[in-house]
Amino acid sequence: MVQLQLERRGISDPATLEAMAQVPRHLFVPPGYQERAYSDTPLPIGHGQTISQPYIVAFMTQTIRPAPGMKVLEIGTGSGYQAAVLAATGARVYSIEIIPELAQSARENLARSGYAGVRLREADGYFGWPEEAPFDAILVTAAAPFVPPPLIKQLKVGGKMIIPVGSPFLVQTLMLVEKDERRTRSRSLMPVRFVPFRRSE
Ligand code: SAH
Repeated sequence: MVQLQLERRGISDPATLEAMAQVPRHLFVPPGYQERAYSDTPLPIGHGQTISQPYIVAFMTQTIRPAPGMKVLEIGTGSGYQAAVLAATGARVYSIEIIPELAQSARENLARSGYAGVRLREADGYFGWPEEAPFDAILVTAAAPFVPPPLIKQLKVGGKMIIPVGSPFLVQTLMLVEKDERRTRSRSLMPVRFVPFRRSE
């Protein structure tokens, strides 16, 4: 997976490649999908949600330049796999999931794969995690119609956020949002397809 799907497509950050090699992805897919765990594709994890394709996980991880001790917020825990990859780089990971059943299974997946240090919260990630802000990086793994303002606020000056923006039914763009003292800049990185960002009622 690391050589054929990641290095060959230009993933080169050593910390990212090391983390992708280390985390047992088969412990994050549902029973019945085990033998496809390392395939070049997203897979269903129940409740209409998916675990992202390995390349997308690596691309998002590499983009934030993970390093030990960095404080990272993820919105959309899903299976917990992206959170585990971030934790494997030595980052301190906070992750929010809106579907209670998925938050529960992610907690189990993270515990049995050795990444119980990831902090999980069951909530609408739109509002971020203000008590733990600011974050060095924020990764959003569901497609939002716009970048939630509370997340921009919780990003450190000099920090990076990566988020798919666009309509759930049309093409979405993976955006990199960078904050400096004076302003917040965003640019598009590539077209992507993510499950929709939901809102709590
Ligand atoms: N990062 C995940 C991929 C998850 S798919 C992994 O590695 O497996 C996107 C996830 O975002 C889904 O689990 C979905 O329930 C969750 N989600 C959608 N809207 C959300 C919101 N507003 N707050 C928190 N989680 C949300």
